[in-house]
Parts: sequence; structure tokens; C-alpha cells
Amino acid sequence: MSATIIDGKAIAGKVQEEVRQGVSQMLAEHGRTPGLATVLVGDNTASATYVRNKKKACAEVGIRSIGRELPGDISQEDLLAVVQELNADPEVDGILVQLPLPKHIDEEAILAAIDIRKDVDGFHPLNIGRLAMKGRDPLFIPCTPYGCLRLLQEAGVNLNGADAVVLGRSNIVGLPMAMLLQKANATVTICHSRTKDLASYLRKADVIVAAVGIAEMVTGDMLKPGAVVIDVGINRKDDPTAKRGYRLVGDVDFESCAAVAGAITPVPAAWADDDCHAVGQHPARCTSGRELTLS
Ligand code: NAP
Repeated sequence: MSATIIDGKAIAGKVQEEVRQGVSQMLAEHGRTPGLATVLVGDNTASATYVRNKKKACAEVGIRSIGRELPGDISQEDLLAVVQELNADPEVDGILVQLPLPKHIDEEAILAAIDIRKDVDGFHPLNIGRLAMKGRDPLFIPCTPYGCLRLLQEAGVNLNGADAVVLGRSNIVGLPMAMLLQKANATVTICHSRTKDLASYLRKADVIVAAVGIAEMVTGDMLKPGAVVIDVGINRKDDPTAKRGYRLVGDVDFESCAAVAGAITPVPAAWADDDCHAVGQHPARCTSGRELTLS
């Protein structure tokens, strides 16, 4: 079997277009575009890159960026004051505090201080709580798991009654992913570092979302034939032939899994070519989506 590639780049382009249209609509109806504030503390290079990319993504769809670059030795009190100021600013519609924060800052207190109406990361306990509860909806959903759900929807995966395994239970990815999948009526198993016989769970799964942070730990022999595999992992793997001495790989061993899976996301996305075709010799197509409603 040769898996269909789920083309995240193409789907991201579609989402960007939807956002662009939403921004135009807001401008037409309310005479202003939305504003997104980013809060960057310290000089962590990776964090600075993420924030730069977020600002670039905003510019591409017409969202205004409001940047707050703060020193790494800022006090908890001063950082809270910045969050409060952004909460009160009517020109700010969303606030992203870039994580991780320096060790002397109480991350939980900072995230909890964000107005839930501006908590676009969806990390506020009230938003996470509403995501967990039946019959409630959060105001915002954490973006990485929401993106994974969208990939599944766009690939036409029927989650209703599907057996899903989420590998990893972090607050940012694994846990909210599991909640989203169960809201979409999948039967969800969460596996983590203490799970015994991981492969026995994976082999029963129709859908797997891997968010562990261990290079290529999921291999083809652990999958049920035809399973849909979403690989969230981004890991460096030593590769003396690569310019930087390493290459990026996911939590899933792409080659062996693509031979067994029904559909799979490549890491990095550049593995998939622009026309979205199957691994191996057989052309396939990116199926386009049935809407899944979260209840
Ligand atoms: P994290 O906070 O380190 O969580 C990792 C999870 O994996 C934990 O729940 C841990 O279990 C579990 N785990 C560790 N070893 C395991 C094992 N041997 N078997 C089963 N489970 C195991 O990581 P994260 O923030 O969720 O990120 C996960 C991966 O996704 C990373 O590679 C990260 O770079 C990537 N990521 C990608 C995106 C994206 O946009 N694509 C966004 C965020 C993260 P315990 O809870 O028991 O410790």
C-alpha cells in the first residue's frame, strides 16, 4: 500500500485565504482590521523566530501586529502589567505570549492573566476547561491541535466512531488534541511515556496523532494498514551529508509508515511535492473535506 500525502502546505494556503476574507469582512463591517499582540521575553533565538513568523503571517492576511519585546530579566509584576495593558487596549484583539518564559516567571499566572476573549492561543484554563466539557465550546482552541483536526477534516477522514490514539499529553498539543478528537466523536486513547506496550494501542488505531518529540519512534510495523497518521513532531536527526549536519524528521518514520498507512503527513512539509502525490509509484489525490462539526 502507498499512502496518500496530506498536503499541509496546500491546506494552510486555504486557511490563510479564509482568514484574509474574514479580515476584509471585519474592515467592511467595523471599519478596522484585527490586531494581534505578541509578547516576547528575552533573547531565545527560536522564540524570536517564531514571533517573527507570526508577524509575517499576520502581514500576509492583513492583521495588524503589535509587538512587545521585553528584557529577559523583566519582573513578574512588570510582565503582568504588560498583559493587563494589552487586555485593556481596544486595538488589541488577540494576545500571544511566546513560550517558554524565563524560569523566574510563573508561566501559569501570566497565561491566566490574559483576557479569555483575547486568549488566541487557547491556553487559558477557562478555555481549556470549556474544550474539555461536553456541551461547551472554548472561545479559542490551541492552534497546533486545531491544525491537526483541520488536516483530518480536509483529508475527508471520518472521525465519527473512529479509534484514535494521541501520542503525547502535553498541554500544548497532546491533551487538547485528545479533547478535540473526542468532541468530534472519535474514541480516544492517550499514550505517554508510561504507556506499556505502545504498539498494541497503535495497531488498533484508525487515526494516530504523534506529538512526542522523539525522532521517528513510530514505525510501519506498529500501524494498522490504512491508518491515518498525523505527525506533529519536529526533531533534529544527525546527517553528515546535510549542510547543517542534521536534518528535520518527525516522530514518525515516514518511509516505513507511508508503506502501511492510508494517509500521512510528511515532516518537513517539503517532502511532499507541490502537486500532492502519493509516496511510491501510485498517483493519489488529496481528498477534500467533509465538514466535521464539534458538538
Ligand atoms: P512535550 O511537552 O515534550 O510532550 C511530549 C509528550 O510525549 C509527553 O506527554 C510525554 O509523556 C510523551 N512521551 C515522551 N516519551 C514518550 C515515549 N517514549 N512514548 C510515548 N510517549 C512519550 O512536547 P510537545 O510540546 O507536545 O511537542 C511534541 C512534539 O511536537 C515535539 O517534537 C515538538 O517539537 C513538536 N511540535 C510541533 C508543533 C508544530 O506546529 N508542528 C507545535 C508544537 C510542538 P509524559 O507526559 O509522560 O512525559
